[in-house]
Amino acid sequence: MFSKILIANRGEIALRIQRACREMGIKTVAVHSTADADAMHVRLADEAVCIGPPSSRDSYLNVAAILSAATITGAEAIHPGYGFLSENAEFAETVEEHGLAFIGPTAQHIRMMGDKITAKTTMRELGVPLVPGSDGALPDLQSAREVAERVGYPVLIKAAAGGGGRGMKVAKTADEIEEAWTVARTEARAAFGNDEVYLEKYLNRPRHIELQILGDAHGNVVHFGERDCSLQRRHQKLLEEAGSPALTDAEREEIGRTSTEALARMGYRNAGTLEFLYQDGQFCFIEMNTRLQVEHPVTEMVCSVDLVREQIRIAAGEKLGYTQKDIKMSGHAIECRINAENPETFAPSPGTVNVFHAPGGLGVRMDSALYAGYRIPPYYDSMIAKLIVHAPTRQEAIARMQRALDECVVDGVQTVIPLHRKILADPSFQKGDYTIHWLENFVAEQTKS
Ligand code: ADP
Repeated sequence: MFSKILIANRGEIALRIQRACREMGIKTVAVHSTADADAMHVRLADEAVCIGPPSSRDSYLNVAAILSAATITGAEAIHPGYGFLSENAEFAETVEEHGLAFIGPTAQHIRMMGDKITAKTTMRELGVPLVPGSDGALPDLQSAREVAERVGYPVLIKAAAGGGGRGMKVAKTADEIEEAWTVARTEARAAFGNDEVYLEKYLNRPRHIELQILGDAHGNVVHFGERDCSLQRRHQKLLEEAGSPALTDAEREEIGRTSTEALARMGYRNAGTLEFLYQDGQFCFIEMNTRLQVEHPVTEMVCSVDLVREQIRIAAGEKLGYTQKDIKMSGHAIECRINAENPETFAPSPGTVNVFHAPGGLGVRMDSALYAGYRIPPYYDSMIAKLIVHAPTRQEAIARMQRALDECVVDGVQTVIPLHRKILADPSFQKGDYTIHWLENFVAEQTKS
């Protein structure tokens, strides 16, 4: 097992990884920008190295500085967290070339899944069902029109290199296809330096359901059930649940079997998530994330597993040591992402947190790097905390989340807590009756009234 790990990230996820390391008796190295000198992940690490100025490009994405920090501190492995360098195949390769372990999948698998077209082709060959659409990249507008006619409008033009909901445009009818084609490609070129696009049928009322997978270096692959992440605004998740209120045990078992068999055939190693759209009892694969996800805690709560610990064990070459039948989902978990944003316009609200009180009690988990007096820097993501609850039933989990949100105090900046309260109180949400489009409509109605 490693004796020292460098964590190439910041905020709550850097803390989350430190906590797993500490429980495993592993020393931690934090890296930070000058803007994060007072951050909690720096204070709680065994060692900390400043790797550059505030801009992510010069600090948290600065590969040379991060590798130098690992070398001078004698770290043996690097955990990338999520975002930043976590899905950068070149980084994973460079880390390994320097004789360090990358806590994640192989560079080859990161690269393969990072290109959504290759990801879809690979999954199709492995027997995973897809959203109907183009077979690969669209060479020109004419072929976009042809595929759209074949699958039927509305359609979605998506960037091969897409991520974070960018480079995606809907064409409701044939009249809109040219504009969607041009806008998606322009956005993709600007955001990812790659204007390759593909086309999918735009599903009108799907749920976003994703499967948590772990594979070891010895060919064992298991899944930890699903998360329902349908509550999104601008294709960004806001509230997640495990399990999904829409899925039956038989459906879970079937998609779980298809997915783990596919990844075992790929030889996939470490943590990964297969994302699906689910409509009318059908699963359609949309993409795979080759890293730990923001919403991993809901899975941890229902499956009683420490996914970060498992990632570290796998990277150290250990066997999983259990099989699918040992994994049981128990109760229900919900996560609310607490972003420092205006709850109506979602404009970022950086500033100083004067008062901070984290909720507690039975079945409540707060993953956050906040403290009273903390100045939220304007340079990074606006998510400042994740509040997670676990209870025997979904109904009890909702009541527990409402109670926990009432206890939570974040004073000095605006947060999306008032929106979470409204969602949790809504009858449709309480019935579990929602799709990926539900939240946008809900927010629009709230601002009208
Ligand atoms: P990104 O990598 O940018 O997050 P995804 O392919 O994962 O892109 O899609 C993000 C979200 O966009 C999905 O969770 C879903 O809400 C919506 N979406 C993606 N593809 C489709 C589709 N074919 N039909 C309807 N909605 C879709």
